[in-house]
Amino acid sequence: MKIFLDFDDVLFDTYRFKQKLWAIFMSCGFSRKETEKAAEDISSECFKEKGKIYSPLGHIRNLKKIRNFDDRNLKKEIDGFLAKLSGFVFADCRKFLESFPKNDLYLISYGHGNFQRKKIRGSGLFKYFKKIIIIDGNKVRKVAETAKKEGFLGQKKIILIDDRPENLKKPREIKKQVITLWLRRPEGRYSNSSCFYRGWEARNLKEALEIIKREKMK
Ligand SMILES: [Mg+2]
Repeated sequence: MKIFLDFDDVLFDTYRFKQKLWAIFMSCGFSRKETEKAAEDISSECFKEKGKIYSPLGHIRNLKKIRNFDDRNLKKEIDGFLAKLSGFVFADCRKFLESFPKNDLYLISYGHGNFQRKKIRGSGLFKYFKKIIIIDGNKVRKVAETAKKEGFLGQKKIILIDDRPENLKKPREIKKQVITLWLRRPEGRYSNSSCFYRGWEARNLKEALEIIKREKMK
């Protein structure tokens, strides 16, 4: 059995992380409104131009359009913050990750390569995974591609755990190969949505672990 886990809102409390990161920008004299707007602008640019994904450097660039400022201290402060993020890891993560051999665990995360890697490294979770994959396209397809490359597609059961319903949508040609588990944490961004693409559903990683163990026995 091979397990592919999403990072944001599955292993990592991204909402709390963002609040802290925003506070660092705000300590430079920007209001909450300006800080949020500068971040949102990256998301809207993202629709027009592929490859524009949130990163603190993009955020600073947009803030400078509002008011130019010396960003040297801010950059240092952000780097320091990103280096120590273990406090944002959900409490149920380590037990889950320690229940499987490292060889069976893959982290697959959507985001800005450099920023995402810094976050994952800062969280202290890097060591649990055989591979860390950062993507900007269809997740299930990338899972299948990786499985093919690593030689276990069609050989091993593959589970993908994600909180975002649309990430669990499977391209037709690989429908049978990947089992999807929708992690619907009550505090998560998508807990009020529905997910048509889920194979299984759990409210936290403790429940997910129970489901996986039960299925393994079958
Ligand atoms: Mg997520």
